[in-house]
Amino acid sequence: MPDLSVYPAPDRVLGCLLGGGIGDALGAPLEGFTLDVIREKHGPDGPDDFVAERFGRGAITDDTQLTMFTAYALVQASARERAGGGARGVGTAAPGLLQAAYLTWFRGQGEEFPDQGVEGGGWLAGEPALMTRRGPGRSTLAALHRAAERRRPTVPLGTPREPNGDSKGCGGTMRAAPCGFGHADPADAFELGCRAAALTHGHPSGYLPAGVHAAMVSALLRGAELEESLHLAREQLKRHPGNRETLEALGHAASLRHEGPATPERLQTLGGGWTGDQAIAIAVYAALAPGDVESRLRLAVTHTGDSDSTGAICGNLLGARYGADAFPRRWRDGLEVGSALTRLAAACSAEFGPNPPADPGGHPIAQ
Ligand SMILES: [Mg+2]
Repeated sequence: MPDLSVYPAPDRVLGCLLGGGIGDALGAPLEGFTLDVIREKHGPDGPDDFVAERFGRGAITDDTQLTMFTAYALVQASARERAGGGARGVGTAAPGLLQAAYLTWFRGQGEEFPDQGVEGGGWLAGEPALMTRRGPGRSTLAALHRAAERRRPTVPLGTPREPNGDSKGCGGTMRAAPCGFGHADPADAFELGCRAAALTHGHPSGYLPAGVHAAMVSALLRGAELEESLHLAREQLKRHPGNRETLEALGHAASLRHEGPATPERLQTLGGGWTGDQAIAIAVYAALAPGDVESRLRLAVTHTGDSDSTGAICGNLLGARYGADAFPRRWRDGLEVGSALTRLAAACSAEFGPNPPADPGGHPIAQ
């Protein structure tokens, strides 16, 4: 195991964010279609490029939108903590700023809810692709409605101890990757991933897989191999109550790898990826498959189920391990929000790197 007490590599931070967007955009047109239909349209291994169906060619969905609002809020929380003389990366303000950022995203979903007074998410709110409805999850919308009714955007409604709802949907897990950016200790990354997810997903199988996702990303950005990162994340998972489903799902993914070549048929025995435990298991199975990054990401979306979310999570993991250049150029160039993701990645690397900006006004997050 390498020494993980290092700063996250900027190219891997970028890879994690871009990879998530690419997996999301690749999987979006496939969501809900059966494997047979996907193969009929796109060939035996699924699409090798973005297709124009659903939201448009290379278009992201709610997974990438919310991942970006997560990243923004965490940089903001860390910078605020430093300005107050506190420890960097932790940000006790993080859950409140995350909720405020999600409520800004919520404004773009066309739902009626009370004005919140406070805006989160900074310049992301000015990006049209982030403020438009792209297949948001029902649990997330319902939970944000409940939070919005209180009109206290920066006071988190849901925590793992006092859940907001009981959803085990994958909506908390698919946006958790940035929770691994600021924390070198897997326990801290795991905790923050759970906190961020529990704002809208109150079932342990809705927030614990987000902890797994965040802890894996944290280790990968700092030089761990995929197997090592999974081991570290599972060790954290074992310490948390309510972990049975997520442990079993990951155990199933591990044993499946020894049963034969990685195929969509085998992958589908892990479920459709609609719940957090299934989504992380599918993403991990595809990320650990043999072959190049391209074929592993295609596997992550080529199944009957929540292809954009399993693609997004798998893309986060692959990008955090192999960096942005590991993805084919046609995917990097064709992605809808590539430049916004690049700008956001730079702000994350500045905040969580060796020399965080001293002047809040000059912080890349504010530019
Ligand atoms: Mg989606």
